Amino acid sequence: MAEIIDGRKVAAAINERTAAEAARLAALGVSPGLAVVLVGDDPASQTYVTMKERDAAALGIASFDHRLPADTEQGQLEALVDSLNADPAVHGILVQLPLPRHLDAEPVIDRISPGKDADGFGVSSLGRLVRGLPGLRSCTPAGVMELLRAYDVPIEGARAVVVGRSTMVGKPMALLLLEADATVMVCHSRTRDLADVCREADILVSAVGRPRMVRREWVKPGAVVVDVGTTRLDGKLVGDVAFEEVAEVASKITPVPGGVGPMTRAMLMANTVAAARKAVR
Ligand code: NAP
Repeated sequence: MAEIIDGRKVAAAINERTAAEAARLAALGVSPGLAVVLVGDDPASQTYVTMKERDAAALGIASFDHRLPADTEQGQLEALVDSLNADPAVHGILVQLPLPRHLDAEPVIDRISPGKDADGFGVSSLGRLVRGLPGLRSCTPAGVMELLRAYDVPIEGARAVVVGRSTMVGKPMALLLLEADATVMVCHSRTRDLADVCREADILVSAVGRPRMVRREWVKPGAVVVDVGTTRLDGKLVGDVAFEEVAEVASKITPVPGGVGPMTRAMLMANTVAAARKAVR
């Protein structure tokens, strides 16, 4: 039976460090601040934003809440980002996605100053990751790396398979694993013989959003399985991995919920404090 990778426990340890660092910075005159921008009234986005603001408060990070009406224009949103970029009390900026359909997210995200890109989604943050330069990393993949390290998973030289190639999760995940010297394969909806490719993996990360897609036969005995996927089914959050059967063959596995999710939240706060650290003279 696989060891359960406890994301809540690892996230709590990271949060403790983040809170300590926030307090240290505050004592030096730099109180870390996160601006959270929400456009429209999508209930799921409202919940996410409220959770992030609560996390910030619990760790001693100030949050600046900007809730804009659904008919906000592109220029207004970009002007808000400009003003947050210029605000010295704001060290991290997060624009909650998805934006309403009439708005174009990419120019908004790319407008966030690279030093304040708390989500790590901007073209500059992603470019720095490709180049191997320091910078703010995408929270979910960065959280997965922390989980692997916390559970002493050997990464160097390991075969890693990432299922999913989105800009927010799959691609940065593959790059972080590559940076840590794994041999990485990236799969997607056109991958042939997906199960066979997955069975090659020492580390299998699934970031798709198809409930119970990854079956026991897809997993090499002893592999480490990280389930990023989340889908709401009958009011319950379920992952991409058929947990019970895969746990019988994997050596370590993340549950959903309680695996990657808490890490994403913790890394957002860690990024904000890391950004604030740069403001200390
Ligand atoms: P996304 O943008 O929809 O990307 C999904 C990826 O899965 C795409 O690359 C797609 O391939 C691939 N895919 C779809 N069907 C497939 C199939 N049958 N076989 C193989 N690959 C397939 O989603 P995302 O933003 O990356 O998020 C992925 C999942 O992670 C979602 O469930 C999301 O809710 C979850 N998530 C969780 C957290 C967390 O904190 N736990 C954070 C972020 C995301 P193509 O590129 O070919 O279309």
